[in-house]
Amino acid sequence: MKKQLLTISLVFLASIFCYAQNPDKCATMPVYQKQLQNPAIKANYIKAETSARNWLSNPVNKANAVKKQNSTIIVPVVVHVVYKTAIQNIPDSQIVRQIQLLNECYSLQNPNYSSIRAIFDTLGANTDIQFCLAATDPQGNPTTGIIRKSAPSSAGFDPILNMDKVKSSATNGDDAWPNGQYLNIWVCDMSLFGTAFVLGYSTFPGGDPALDGVVIQSEYFGYGTAAAPNNLGRTAIHEVGHFFGMRHIWADDDSGSTGQCDSIDFVDDTPNQAAKSQSDCNLTINSCSNEAPYWGTIDPPDMVENYMDYSADGCMALFTKGQKARMYSFLNTDSARVLLKSSPVGCNSVGIKELKTNFNNYVFVYPNPASDLLHVNITRLTAQNLQCDIYNTNGQLVKSITQLDFQNTIQLSGLADGLYVVKVHNSEVSATKKITIAR
Ligand SMILES: [Zn+2]
Repeated sequence: MKKQLLTISLVFLASIFCYAQNPDKCATMPVYQKQLQNPAIKANYIKAETSARNWLSNPVNKANAVKKQNSTIIVPVVVHVVYKTAIQNIPDSQIVRQIQLLNECYSLQNPNYSSIRAIFDTLGANTDIQFCLAATDPQGNPTTGIIRKSAPSSAGFDPILNMDKVKSSATNGDDAWPNGQYLNIWVCDMSLFGTAFVLGYSTFPGGDPALDGVVIQSEYFGYGTAAAPNNLGRTAIHEVGHFFGMRHIWADDDSGSTGQCDSIDFVDDTPNQAAKSQSDCNLTINSCSNEAPYWGTIDPPDMVENYMDYSADGCMALFTKGQKARMYSFLNTDSARVLLKSSPVGCNSVGIKELKTNFNNYVFVYPNPASDLLHVNITRLTAQNLQCDIYNTNGQLVKSITQLDFQNTIQLSGLADGLYVVKVHNSEVSATKKITIAR
């Protein structure tokens, strides 16, 4: 027994030593492997995976999943902020910013998508999934979607023996809200001796409802509050990817000296990859050449721009269409994810208030000056039924486009050179931009 404890302690200390220098980005797979030791949980995970793959093996389902969906899925989020120190009690603004980033990245509106290499630039998917802070709690009362709970300093979070402490009030964390109505995100401290041990982890579809959701180390939730290269809010994008069934792009087969290209992430259009990126953006690496039939005779480089790699945040820029299809395979088969698609809990006023205040910042109109075409891009579509009205300097409406999408192109032919006001609005939000037409 003593020997066993000594071995555990040595492994524990070795882990601390390694992570003190380089925190692991994601603990999803080790937590998953641990959960699989419970036969009932394992059976449920296998059932979820099997059902999703069967659904996706139908070519019609697969084709429909890749297409633009008829309606955007709105996922209500509850953020459980469990803190020991004041700085871990992150402000609402940091939470709202992370929700914005989720919406941006899941709709392909992240500005760094423009830096995707040409070989991949048609593969990016607007997942048609958006997020908001929940408006109603499980008892039916109004909520901001943010729960704050002070944990005594003695409670701690044990990243070795019980990471899921944060998910239960019995262990000084906070209980999950029903996973068929909310995406639970716990924001807490998982550091060891003041050093980040892991940035976050998630559950896959099919697991224990009481543990279902995402956990993020406090400073990595939001934008610009952690040290580079993990400072642009991509940790939550990655972990929510796992929540929708995404595997790591290198398929976690990077241990040992053989078989590194054998495993797959169950997605055709993500190139096979031998190992995770090292928080960098290595655009020259091509670690495997045994690609899925999707690629034909092409041997693409590693897709380090994918959210499911371990690249630097500034590098991560896309989910592929194949990954979108896999997300929808779970959204159409796993009972909790199916329910989540039509959650009745609504979106709260914090998000809408913020959207109203800042909507001008989410609308981009270019080029300016313009000649024949005007692009109107909107990075937040939580507001629906948007329209674009163009007025001349006399205040006359000269053009109107309804039902705007994220990216819109407006013909300017017939409009004379001069100054115009472009108004993008619906019943709740409004943004105003000035443009010049010059030919
Ligand atoms: Zn991961």
